[in-house]
Amino acid sequence: MSKVRIYALAKDLGVDSGRMLEILSDLGVQFKSSSSTLDEETVEAIKTILAEEKNSATPTTPTATTPSAQGDSAPALQNQGAPTATVEREVAPRDTAPKNEVPHRAPVVTIMGHVDHGKTSLLDYIRKTRVAAKEAGGITQHVGAFEAKTSKGKIVFIDTPGHEAFTSIRARGANVADIAIIVVAADDSIMPQTREAIAHAQAAKVPLIVAINKMDLPTANIDKVKQDLIAQNLVPEEFGGDTIVVGVSARTGEGVEDLLEMISLVAELEDLRADPKAELGGVVVESRVDRQMGVLANVIVQQGTLRVGDFLVVGERYGKIKALTDSLGARIKDAGPSTPVQILGFSEAPTAGDMVASARNEHEAREMVQSRVTVRRDGEQAREKRRMTLDDIFGA
Ligand code: GDP
Ligand code: MG
Repeated sequence: MSKVRIYALAKDLGVDSGRMLEILSDLGVQFKSSSSTLDEETVEAIKTILAEEKNSATPTTPTATTPSAQGDSAPALQNQGAPTATVEREVAPRDTAPKNEVPHRAPVVTIMGHVDHGKTSLLDYIRKTRVAAKEAGGITQHVGAFEAKTSKGKIVFIDTPGHEAFTSIRARGANVADIAIIVVAADDSIMPQTREAIAHAQAAKVPLIVAINKMDLPTANIDKVKQDLIAQNLVPEEFGGDTIVVGVSARTGEGVEDLLEMISLVAELEDLRADPKAELGGVVVESRVDRQMGVLANVIVQQGTLRVGDFLVVGERYGKIKALTDSLGARIKDAGPSTPVQILGFSEAPTAGDMVASARNEHEAREMVQSRVTVRRDGEQAREKRRMTLDDIFGA
């Protein structure tokens, strides 16, 4: 029997990806990504556990997962309690709420790659075929991202020029993308910006999927691309590696279905969840000033829910949401996790990568801004003091 990939096994066994990851961590199995392979023994062990689960009348978890200290989205306090206090129930590894109570969220995908390799064309193809045109009007709004419908659920594609958005957002310490698609033209193979894109995805620790585009061209040389990928340490699955490679054509649509399916599978294994009731967290993907409307900020909600009328704090500014627009151009009242929205209500354009927080009222918003300003000034003063001391010492 040949080796089995995690995502393929989850699919075959019809098991929820979250459960699959729990089993793997219970078994102490190390893996790099959802396309990592499992040996026969592990596969058998997983099958046994699942079979036992099915047979037992009461659905229990064999071993409670230990709570992790790095709750990424919820208040840290709850996570620091003694683990012994929660013996009676399963503790979710990443969220403070029991895992099955925190709903799944759609994956947020960024498309990167060398210029002219087909990023825009691929996004356009997906948008054309996967976004339901509004009955009336049919004018989609540019909100920096759009939601594609697939049989496996929604996928959010960031459609701000891949690179810049991703790098400037990351440079500010935020991570919006869950998965990176690296587009490589089949007739051009790996180019400098491809290497850059790969490096960014790796630095951000987001799983990447390689889409070899322009498969329709007679000059397409897929083997060369694969060899070049191997030279970048991205070994395609068919050569025994972990890298998911999908051949596509943004022109004919060939392979796009497979690509979407792969995204869903990887997303499922990543077990992306976010609590719509949690404190708001969002990231600015881009912003602009419209002559008539004023400042428009495109934001992706990461957790919690944005509501018209909310006070938001971004950087050292705050604003009150006057209007929210979704990617279909519709005015909406609220937006939950993994929703791209356009916000009207800021007085100055925020920067891509700025994180969005909410305040209960204007007073709190002002206080949050004030404390951010104080923290920054204190830091600046401390640096200035250090510099002066050094000047004294070295007599500069
Ligand atoms: P970007 O710079 O990565 O956004 O690339 P574009 O989407 O602008 O595409 C660059 C050029 O390649 C355009 O002329 C596209 O029409 C063409 N192109 C993109 N995808 C395909 C494809 O799948 N097949 C073919 N034959 N041409 C493509
Ligand atoms: Mg482009």
